[in-house]
Amino acid sequence: MFIAAYVFASSPCRGLALMSGDDAKLDRRAMLFGKWRRDQTSAPALAAVSGEIRAINWVRPPGAIAPSLFVEACDGCGACAEVCPAQAIKMNGPAVAGRKPGPRIDAAQNPCVMCDSIACVAACPTTALAPVTRDAIRIAQIRFDPARCRAVDGSDATCAVCAERCPVGVAAISVAPGQGPTIAGGCTGCGVCVHYCPAAPPPLIQLPPMV
Ligand code: SF4
Ligand code: SF4
Ligand code: SF4
Ligand code: SF4
Repeated sequence: MFIAAYVFASSPCRGLALMSGDDAKLDRRAMLFGKWRRDQTSAPALAAVSGEIRAINWVRPPGAIAPSLFVEACDGCGACAEVCPAQAIKMNGPAVAGRKPGPRIDAAQNPCVMCDSIACVAACPTTALAPVTRDAIRIAQIRFDPARCRAVDGSDATCAVCAERCPVGVAAISVAPGQGPTIAGGCTGCGVCVHYCPAAPPPLIQLPPMV
């Protein structure tokens, strides 16, 4: 079982990174991110150490119920992965009820593109993926680290790839010259922006969804 802890870096740098542990812990400073889901059983997660970003971002498919319930409801059948037109879902996540690997999406490889039919939810034979409308998908939160953004550091002042690729548009993201992206309330957390951002590691970071 993979569980991660969320903390902010103690260094002057405001970068984020990943660490794992036996218990989900919420550092006081992590509260700056808002109201976090405490139930992190087998949930994808990020944390911050040393100001470095480690790319271990993954999320459940759209409609995934709370992590502790998901691992009991999902039987690892793989139907969601089979129908995903973006091949975003891989059956290599933490074990689920049948003690098979569960589904996971790594935006760095193939992000969820929020297909029109939300095919994964339609195909799920269990309650693991609950019906959700396209604009209500919230598979992650996106946080922005300006220190890594090419539009901010001047290496590519006109870069706006993240906003140009976003399947939602201005309701989710906008880019101001020299300032990089601003994430808005319509962001679904799909990770398309993370995938296409030319910076490495990308300054756009997926974090688990807020409850
Ligand atoms: S919503 Fe569509 S693109 Fe996204 S994970 Fe589900 S099947 Fe794949
Ligand atoms: S279709 Fe549903 S039950 Fe099957 S692996 Fe995907 S989430 Fe789990
Ligand atoms: S695509 Fe990446 S580097 Fe370019 S503006 Fe967006 S966050 Fe910055
Ligand atoms: S801002 Fe990024 S994560 Fe949010 S909807 Fe757009 S592409 Fe998806």
